[in-house]
Amino acid sequence: MNTTAPVSFRSRGVERIVLGQPTSDGDGVKLTRVLTQPLQRRLDPFLMLDAFGSDAAADYIGGFPDHPHRGFETVTIMLEGRMRHRDSVGNVGLLEPGSVQWMTAGRGIIHSEMPEQEAGRMAGFQLWVNLAAKDKMQPPAYRDIAPAGVPALTTAEGVSVRVIAGASQGVAGAVERPTTEPIVLDLAIPAGQSFEAAIPAGHNAFAYVYGGEVDIGETAATTRVEVERMAVLANDAGASGVRLAAPAGATGPARVLLVAGRPLGEPIAQHGPFVMNTTAELHRAVSDFQRGVLAT
Ligand code: FE
Repeated sequence: MNTTAPVSFRSRGVERIVLGQPTSDGDGVKLTRVLTQPLQRRLDPFLMLDAFGSDAAADYIGGFPDHPHRGFETVTIMLEGRMRHRDSVGNVGLLEPGSVQWMTAGRGIIHSEMPEQEAGRMAGFQLWVNLAAKDKMQPPAYRDIAPAGVPALTTAEGVSVRVIAGASQGVAGAVERPTTEPIVLDLAIPAGQSFEAAIPAGHNAFAYVYGGEVDIGETAATTRVEVERMAVLANDAGASGVRLAAPAGATGPARVLLVAGRPLGEPIAQHGPFVMNTTAELHRAVSDFQRGVLAT
């Protein structure tokens, strides 16, 4: 007989809720650092999540002038506004609303990200994904993904899903990466509706709420996560993923960035824009940068 067992979905719960830290980076760009260094081990392979969003040009006009990276990947998700990217490999790209840039720094890249507007709103995210030790010194790579290049779907419940990385509901994302196998979904969940995202049991995962609020977990035991909070999702070997529900009566959809990845389990050594495995490798990165050979 060829029968299919009924599929029952079990959701991860919320282990803790994290409020980001206001800070600035680049040339005075105001942002909120949501995933900070103390969480790098817990959320391995993710090293950082910054959220930025401001209507005031003074908060972003300085941009991010030339700076180096080595040893990991940066993912820039633009929601509103425009930024111009230039790098030492010769790539030039425009980040516009709805676009995604996936940059693999590898052994070294020097780049700038400068606003291409003098007024109006600028909003989005930057996520850092670690590279395995064996991949840290690979040649740099860069992909600019236009808004139409990010696969999107709408569920029967009206949930809109932009599949930035990994896969969701059978739709392959714009980016698939080996080793860390990241899943990055940008969700809009209408009031009163819910969404179940499959996440491999071994992945570390978190959800950042950037609009409205969301209830996470099994129906009988949800945790309410308010706007501008990150929920660290519990690692539960029996869970098939996470259920996110937007409370009924909300004025707009809940907006959530859902991120999951397979942990590397390797030592993490960070010095600013360099993330390696050992202090000696960090010294080498600083020295290479100072000697002008980091990105050659
Ligand atoms: Fe950068």
